[in-house]
Amino acid sequence: MLTTSIPSGWIAGAPIDGAGPDHTVLDPATGEPVAEVALAGSADVDAAVSAARAAQRDWGAATPAQRSEVLGALAAALDAQADLLAEQETAHTGKAIRLSREFDVPGSIDNVRFFAGAARILEGKASGEYSGDHTSSIRREPVGVVGSITPWNYPLQMAVWKVLPALAAGCAVVLKPAELTPLTTLTLARLATEAGLPDGVLNVVVGTGTDVGAAIAGHPDVDMVTFTGSTAVGRTVMGQAATHGTRVQLELGGKAPFVVFDDADLDAAIAGAVAGSLINAGQDCTAATRAIVAADLYDDFVAGVAEVMGSVVMGDPRDPATDMGSLISTAHRDKVAQMVARAPAQGARVVVGGQVPDGPGAFYPPTLIADVAESSEIYRDEVFGPVLTVSAFTDDDDAIRRANDTVYGLAASAWTRDVYRAGRASREIHAGCVWINDHIPIISEMPHGGVGASGFGKDMSMYSLEEYLTVKHVMSDNTGVAQKDWHRTVFADPGRGSR
Ligand code: NAD
Repeated sequence: MLTTSIPSGWIAGAPIDGAGPDHTVLDPATGEPVAEVALAGSADVDAAVSAARAAQRDWGAATPAQRSEVLGALAAALDAQADLLAEQETAHTGKAIRLSREFDVPGSIDNVRFFAGAARILEGKASGEYSGDHTSSIRREPVGVVGSITPWNYPLQMAVWKVLPALAAGCAVVLKPAELTPLTTLTLARLATEAGLPDGVLNVVVGTGTDVGAAIAGHPDVDMVTFTGSTAVGRTVMGQAATHGTRVQLELGGKAPFVVFDDADLDAAIAGAVAGSLINAGQDCTAATRAIVAADLYDDFVAGVAEVMGSVVMGDPRDPATDMGSLISTAHRDKVAQMVARAPAQGARVVVGGQVPDGPGAFYPPTLIADVAESSEIYRDEVFGPVLTVSAFTDDDDAIRRANDTVYGLAASAWTRDVYRAGRASREIHAGCVWINDHIPIISEMPHGGVGASGFGKDMSMYSLEEYLTVKHVMSDNTGVAQKDWHRTVFADPGRGSR
């Protein structure tokens, strides 16, 4: 299924060999090697940007129908390789194969299909004589060459979310996946070429963040940098892009509140909290991380979540019966474990989980932490693991205040059967998305993106297409006269404006 040696990238429609150093892609569920790659470097970024620059003009000039046709063919090619993509995604992330097959891969393909259609829709104001003497019209033009940097948690989906709206808009892309998880991104690039995407329109460079990522973000010939990853690195990327005043879009960390009001369907909230906090082993920027529960329901909620978490099957990610696979690496698992281990000293109670299991692989069990103080690290900082904290609120004002007591603002949910409470939560919680009586679902037609320390700009939907388009105003004089009416603001004597 998997090759042992993979290319260092994909530039101008062909695989490349990087100069190294050598890097081993590991299966984090076993610690075994999955693939070897000689990492690419900044010279490869230069080559990729040149290829993108050369290809962008014609791709940007292609008709929307032509671009749509190629992207539609890419969707079909991905569909035909869905099994391979799911296997690759599980092999380098350790995520449960059911998640790869039923979420990552079909979600990515649907997103490609959406942008194949979206390529044919360019929105703007109606042309008109807004000044009286001119006709104004709006042109939407591709931003140009886009540099994209993606994380390891959903490698294929994050690549698709960044690449597809850019391609639909007529941009060319240089994409850097996380070096831990390059397999599906390389397959995406190969299939794009096979589907007829012109050479150079999508380039991939596999390397480290400090080398390849920094070279992309600070490249003088990159017109826009789109980044998904941690808040700290996102801010570094923004600084690198600022060197050349490059446009930036950032999708960063999250610390989603999960607010359970006292009229909520408790069973639904419990099931939703477990699924919403454990999806992708909690390595999801929108995952439920802070359950904020009405005091009356608190004990029942804690007991119910603990019981359901206890039934979750953690293990071999390739087994379809497995609910939760491993984390991305033992280094990340250790970071999660250390954050949980520090929590009791800050007054919290580990109800279930919290112990690193024996044996190989970066496994960490579903973990519920009750009685967390608002000031504690586990409540405030992103854990990015299968860890849910619970705290109680007193009244609705307190619930909303606690939900907003974070620097992040990516996603949130409110659980209630009261339409006015639901309305208030959706208005007053600061986040890019508020779910009512659910937590996690996404859909290609709707935007994803945060506020505050969660970044700015949108992935998915027509809002995302807008990110990759510039707005040009074309204003044409309709009078045909030499001395325009407005010249009197320059010449006190209108006669002086003529010869
Ligand atoms: P990360 O920030 O460590 O890395 C993200 C990418 O940036 C990787 O490709 C990495 O190699 C690269 N990078 C690292 N240092 C760099 C530098 N100095 N210059 C340029 N690029 C650099 O994030 P991660 O650990 O891969 O992913 C987890 C994080 O991603 C979490 O914080 C999570 O919340 C966030 N995330 C956010 C969203 C969203 O849509 N908001 C989605 C998925 C993940």
